[in-house]
Amino acid sequence: MSSNTTAPAVPPYNKNEEEEKKLILREYRALLRSLKESLKKGDKAMLRHAFEIAVEAHKNTRRKSGEPYILHPLAVAQIAVDEIGLGVTSAICALLHDTVEDTEITLEDITREFNTHISKIIDGLTKISNVVDLKADTTVQAENFRKILLTLADDPRVILIKLADRLHNMRTLESVNREKQLKISSETTYIYAPLAHRLGLYEIKSEMEDLALKYTQPEIYMEITQGLKETKRERSRYINEFIKPIKEELAANDFEFEIYGRPKAIHSIWNKMRKKHVTFDEVYDLFAIRVILKSTPEKEKEDCWKVYSIITNFYRPSTERLRDWISVPKGNGYEALHTTVMGPGGRWVEVQIRTERMNEIAEKGLAAHWKYKEGGATTAQESKLDSFLKHLRDILNNPDTDTIDFIQDIKLDLFTEEIYVYTPKGDMRVLPKGATALDFAFDIHTELGRRCIGAKVNYRLVPLSHKLVSGDQVEVITSSKQNPSEDWLNFLITAKAKSRVKSYLKEDKRKIAEDGKEALRRKLDHLKVPMSPHNLNELMHFFKKSSSLDLWYGIAVGNIDLKDLRNFVVHGDKLQPVHKEIKLDTKFANAEDVVKQKGGKPAELIIFGERSDKVLYKLAQCCQPIPGDDVFGFVTSGEGLKIHRTDCPNAAQLLANYGHRIVKTKWAKNKEISFLAGVRIIGMDDVGVIQKITNVISGELKLNMRSLSIDSKDGVFQGTIMVYVHDREELNNFCNKLGALEGISTIERLEGTEE
Ligand code: MN
Repeated sequence: MSSNTTAPAVPPYNKNEEEEKKLILREYRALLRSLKESLKKGDKAMLRHAFEIAVEAHKNTRRKSGEPYILHPLAVAQIAVDEIGLGVTSAICALLHDTVEDTEITLEDITREFNTHISKIIDGLTKISNVVDLKADTTVQAENFRKILLTLADDPRVILIKLADRLHNMRTLESVNREKQLKISSETTYIYAPLAHRLGLYEIKSEMEDLALKYTQPEIYMEITQGLKETKRERSRYINEFIKPIKEELAANDFEFEIYGRPKAIHSIWNKMRKKHVTFDEVYDLFAIRVILKSTPEKEKEDCWKVYSIITNFYRPSTERLRDWISVPKGNGYEALHTTVMGPGGRWVEVQIRTERMNEIAEKGLAAHWKYKEGGATTAQESKLDSFLKHLRDILNNPDTDTIDFIQDIKLDLFTEEIYVYTPKGDMRVLPKGATALDFAFDIHTELGRRCIGAKVNYRLVPLSHKLVSGDQVEVITSSKQNPSEDWLNFLITAKAKSRVKSYLKEDKRKIAEDGKEALRRKLDHLKVPMSPHNLNELMHFFKKSSSLDLWYGIAVGNIDLKDLRNFVVHGDKLQPVHKEIKLDTKFANAEDVVKQKGGKPAELIIFGERSDKVLYKLAQCCQPIPGDDVFGFVTSGEGLKIHRTDCPNAAQLLANYGHRIVKTKWAKNKEISFLAGVRIIGMDDVGVIQKITNVISGELKLNMRSLSIDSKDGVFQGTIMVYVHDREELNNFCNKLGALEGISTIERLEGTEE
């Protein structure tokens, strides 16, 4: 990868044996202190035992930073206890989490030294860590993700400890090489952060996302942290001014409370900049105000609303920005009252009101309930976790789901906001935002979904694809003649419904394919060749089908004409195509093979891997990289090598799912070839602005412009310029020149050819 982004320097590690011993013991004692209150008789001895086993097992290994390895499991245990709120069993498992994977210790040893409970959790953790296998096939990786989720459904502690493990790895990512930093960061954004979110671990989720941003897009990360630092003084002043009257009034009303302003996560600020096409200075809500109350379970709802009423006596609330997650908590257990009010100077300020109990849930999520369960007590929130796990198990138990699709679908489920809808009897169901009447039917029961022909929403008849909103009452209408069809997949959004429909369609397809298989068999009998794997492969290759099922299905529905078999000759019992097609193998083992196969005329712009091999490649349309951008190569199945920017919107998904197809790539120095890049500009409408822009382009900088389009409305114009540049430096120079023009307020690079 490009080396123009330097990782922060890590201080060299230099401790002697004596100092190391002391450090390790100090960390262990810190862990003990955190667990103190929850330790029962015998727990301490068991924890000590686990600690000693782990120390012994890892004694000869060090982390990339040079530290003794044991500091990692110790840190993971500490995170599990302090930040997720787990108990002693989990701390023991965290201490041992890498032993079976990396050392001589076996699961049997763990069972013998501890119990089957603990060894089961360790087993789950070991299986999950195999997921991070750079060489694994895509389907294998997806299958592994599925395994992660399965273990989650078994015992949530497995995934909670895994999240602690991942968080610590992210916190210490400085020491590993750039390639690994990207891979681990992408995986974190792709699967672990959404999981943390779904489990209500907001703090962990946002720290993961911030750290991932730090490594995938270091410049942006620096820009935002720097910006936050520079505006800190002004922000505190504003927050104090905002809080002052509220503080006095709350105190006058005998509330025991805490109130403070909290900067928003770097990652979410970046999202805002991206989505709204604004610069850091234009993001107005860099912080939220939080009020945390002492209250009792009976009075907490009333108290929160009282606080709301006091705040809105001072500042006018925005009517559409009120969120009551106290009456109906979020699916991940989150409870709070959110409102946005007009603060001093006409600025909108978000205020979050919650009790101490709600705050603990907000920080530790559903895991907080797990802790209560570990202690034996049960809470109402626990059923939320249970129903999420049940939902997950439901989807996972369907053996027919295509794993890659499945991960996509699950991810959608994990990330989206929720709506609350009701059955005719008044039972509430929680569905992701955008869910349709048909999703609702599948949510109630698979059979109901399968037979669904429409629904009555609030007594009004609507089609299957009707999007539901919170508060809708839904009655499903069915017919025994109804069967799922392909187009249902276009509007269904829940993972469960999609996977059920897909497996139904597959079943259906399989039945039809039987006819095709029979027809093919007769034809092959006639040619006196068997339907052997070799022959099937030749046919699949020729008819461009990826499975024998697709081949048979194609024959059955007439997409494939068996007359085309005349393109084959028979050699013994083997079919052979007459014209041996010369084409690239679609499954490249790695890019080096592409180099050799393509030979021919290599482009001279990109260097792959450690050696300076020059390879034929294409620039990805989705992000249009130019020299100077941080990039990686992706081996596609059919179009050779594609170069993406590491900040490409598709990068996280590619890096996380297709690790084995990623090729380290950097730019070679070159000044002869130009690359197309797009820039979006926004400014005040002004006669002659186009003239000024074109002057910069062709006069001053002598760039080649491909297109310029400008749209102007109400005195503001928005434009897109496509120019040819040699590298990023030239592009930056161009942007700076444009920025210096009067009347232009925003300039940003386009993500791709979206315009
Ligand atoms: Mn680990």
